[in-house]
Amino acid sequence: MRVFKFGGASVKDAAGVRNVAEIIRRFESEQLCIVVSAMGKTTNALEAICNAYFHQTGQAATLLEELKEKHLQLVGELFPNSHPSLMDELEDIFAELYWAIEETQIKAYDYEYDQIVSQGEFISTRIVAAYLNDQGITTHWLDARDIIRTDNTYREGGVQWEYTQNAIQEKLKFNSSQPVRYLTQGFIGGTSENFTTTLGREGSDYSASIIAYCLNAKDVSIWKDVPGVLNADPREFPQAQLLPALSYYDAIELAYYGATVIHPKTIKPLQNKNIPLYVKSFLQPEAPGTRISEDELKQEVPTYIFKKGQVLISVSPRDFSFILEENLRDLFELFSQYRAHVNLMQNSALSFSVCVTIENVRLEGLLKELDRKYKVKYNHHCELITIRNYTDALASSLIGQRPVLLEQRSRHTLQVVLKEIQ
Ligand code: ADP
Ligand code: ASP
Ligand code: MG
Repeated sequence: MRVFKFGGASVKDAAGVRNVAEIIRRFESEQLCIVVSAMGKTTNALEAICNAYFHQTGQAATLLEELKEKHLQLVGELFPNSHPSLMDELEDIFAELYWAIEETQIKAYDYEYDQIVSQGEFISTRIVAAYLNDQGITTHWLDARDIIRTDNTYREGGVQWEYTQNAIQEKLKFNSSQPVRYLTQGFIGGTSENFTTTLGREGSDYSASIIAYCLNAKDVSIWKDVPGVLNADPREFPQAQLLPALSYYDAIELAYYGATVIHPKTIKPLQNKNIPLYVKSFLQPEAPGTRISEDELKQEVPTYIFKKGQVLISVSPRDFSFILEENLRDLFELFSQYRAHVNLMQNSALSFSVCVTIENVRLEGLLKELDRKYKVKYNHHCELITIRNYTDALASSLIGQRPVLLEQRSRHTLQVVLKEIQ
C-alpha cells in the first residue's frame, strides 16, 4: 500500500479538491491511505478563533462565522445540487465549535487550542471524502484519533507507537483482490482519555509518515505546490533548483534547519523502515519530484535555508562558575520545560549562547527562570541562515550588510544568526 498526503495548499479551493480527485484517479488500482490537512489557511483562522476565545476579545464568533461561510461556499461550488448529508456533518462540526467558544470555563491554552484547531482537518476530510465519493472514488473515512494515540502533551502530542501500530494495523485492512482506500486527517491524534491532540504545526506530513511506518508502506507521496524539494524556498528565491534525489540524512537536516517543505519529524519513521518519500507537485502530478531515500547521494548543489522568528539567548553564570556540565544540564532542562527548540548553540568559558524557536508566551517564563542564576542577554526577531555546501561568495551575498550575531562553520555547512529584516 501507498500513503498520499495532501496539504492545505492542495485543497485550498474547489478547483484544488477537484484536482486531488484527478490525482487519486490516476492511482485507481492502488491500495491507498490518503491523509488530508485543513483547507488553505484554515488552521491559522482557527488559531485566531482560539486566541479570541481564550483572551475573550469578543471576536471569536464572528471569525468562526467567516470560516464557516468560506467552507460552505466551497461546498456550494463542489456540489451545485447540494449535498444534505455532508451539510449535516459540517453543521455538527461547526455547532461543536460554537459550543466550544461559548464555554465559560476556559481550560489550559494548549488543551483548548487542540480541541478547536483540530476541527479544520475534520471539516476538510468530510468535504474531500464526499467529493471523492461523488466522483465514484470510494474511501473509508477514518477518525485519526482512533488510530494515532499520543500522550497528553497538547500541541505537540508524543506518539505512543505500540498502541498506534496496533490500532492502525487493526483498522486499515487491505486485500489484494481489489483496491481499498482510506482517508483520514493529518495533524491529529487522540489521548487514552479520548481528548484530541495535535502533532505540532504543519504536522500532517508526520501523520502520513506514522501511518506508512505502521503499515510498512511501499512509499509516501506528499503533494505540494512546488515541483519537489528545491535548494532554497522559491517564495524568496524564484530561481531555486529542484533536487531530484536526497538522502534521508540530507532531508532531515534541511527540514530541521527550517526548509518548511517537509515537517522535520517526517523522516525518522520512514528512514527506520527504509520507505522512500516522494515530494511531488500536485500541479504536475506526472513529474518525478524529489525522491528521498537511503541512497548515499552526494549533494553538491549549495542549499540555503532561512529560519525566521528565532530568539538568540546568551547566558553567563552570575557566580562566575565556568559553563560546565552541571550548568548545561540545568539549562537544557529549562529549554525542554519551556519547549524551546534549540537550533544552534555555542559556548565559551563564561557564556553559552543558543538560537531557539520558542513561542512568545513561553519565552517570558524561560527568561525569568534563567535570570535566577545567569546574566541573560537576548535578541528577538532573529534569523538563522544555514548554507550547506557554501562558498564565501554565496555567504556574503546572502548575508549582505547585516551584522552577524553568531557564526558557526564546518567544512560543508555555514550557519549565521542575524537580525531579521523587518
Ligand atoms: P502543504 O500544502 O503541505 O502545507 P507547505 O506550504 O507546508 O505545504 O510546503 C510547501 C511550501 O514550502 C512551498 O510553497 C514553499 O514555499 C515552501 N518551501 C520552503 N523551503 C522549500 C524548499 N527548500 N523547497 C521547496 N519548497 C520550500
Ligand atoms: N493544518 C495543520 C497546519 O496548518 C497541519 C498541516 O497542514 O500539516 O499546521
Ligand atoms: Mg503545511
